[in-house]
Amino acid sequence: MAHPDFTLSAGPVTVTARTLAGLGSPILYHYDPEFLATFRRTQGKVGQMFQTDNDIILMQGEAIVGLEGALRSLITPGMHVLNLVQGVFGKGTGYWIADFGAVLHEIEVGYDDAVSPAQVEEYLDAHPEIQMVCLVASETPSGTVTDVAAIGPMCRDRGILTYIDTVSGVLGMPWKTDEWGLDLCVAGAQKCLGGPPGVALISVSQKAWDVMYANPAAPRDSYLSLIDWKEKWLGEGRFPYTPSVSDMNGLEAALDQALEEGIDAVVARHEAAAAVTRAGARAMGLELWAKSEEIASACVTSIRLPDDIDNAVVRDHAREVYGVMLSHGQGAGNLVRLSHMGPTAGGLHSVVGLAALGRTLADLGMSVDIGAGLEAALALLSTQRR
Ligand SMILES: *Cc1c(COP(=O)(O)O)cnc(C)c1O
Repeated sequence: MAHPDFTLSAGPVTVTARTLAGLGSPILYHYDPEFLATFRRTQGKVGQMFQTDNDIILMQGEAIVGLEGALRSLITPGMHVLNLVQGVFGKGTGYWIADFGAVLHEIEVGYDDAVSPAQVEEYLDAHPEIQMVCLVASETPSGTVTDVAAIGPMCRDRGILTYIDTVSGVLGMPWKTDEWGLDLCVAGAQKCLGGPPGVALISVSQKAWDVMYANPAAPRDSYLSLIDWKEKWLGEGRFPYTPSVSDMNGLEAALDQALEEGIDAVVARHEAAAAVTRAGARAMGLELWAKSEEIASACVTSIRLPDDIDNAVVRDHAREVYGVMLSHGQGAGNLVRLSHMGPTAGGLHSVVGLAALGRTLADLGMSVDIGAGLEAALALLSTQRR
């Protein structure tokens, strides 16, 4: 099968030529002074992206390695943990929390909805035993977001630790790690940053380190250990294991582009692309998956499908017939996702996605007004300036 003409999936995303050039640059020995400088610079740039002075740990492996390693490091057996569930990644976090020996508390809402700050506040008032709150900032499989700007400071003010999956959150929404008092955040490179899949970007507060050091169950001398990175790399300049040199080079190139564009501008570009996509989808007669506009993510627009049209069939048809790779619901529901993430957030990408989806749904027997949808998207696009 030929390559797709457009990859509009929800990560990994299409990367720019400059990022590809980074990925293709020479592979140096990991203790070559030039690579050591690259690694340290990249760490600093990740800190800028997170807007934090906290320690930055770059683990090799997809973001899951960071999410699992960090959670295992923080969860002290018997600890009371409140997990917010509004999608499949939040649900999965809950299985880990219980598995790692914590007492699991959960607030769960439908996957088209969001846990509100008021619900969290009420739960914390009623359960003073809660020591940590876990949440997913942006539930990529269903395209909803959580109000981290409200929940983060609420936890900080109560002395409660926060563990946040922001794999597709950072750069797709405003992100202020220090201002909001977020203790442990994990991002990936292959979502809004437009980098390679294969690195976990982690910020760790002093409070989070204190909890890990006091935790006898925290992994040490392990691929999942954050303490190893703190002691060996940050402490002694020795890597716990060889970093993927190419991924680091690609990551730095992607970060350079984001920082040159400006963090706020990148976020605004995602928001503008989301607005174009939503306007087009609505005018086409499609129903957005998210219950309300406020909780719809800026990096991916989820469309609710009728029961008789299967989401995986929609994805496969768009790829096969129109050469456009979309994402299906990944178990979150009968939905299809038009992604506007990283380099595909902006310009005509949304229009291409809408055209492919609209015609696919028509081919599958659904009545959609493709023309009206594309007109609405283009009309809004014409008011935006690059
Ligand atoms: C992409 C993503 C991850 C990483 O999971 P994969 O299944 O390895 O892609 C974790 N959390 C969120 C919210 C994500 O979007």
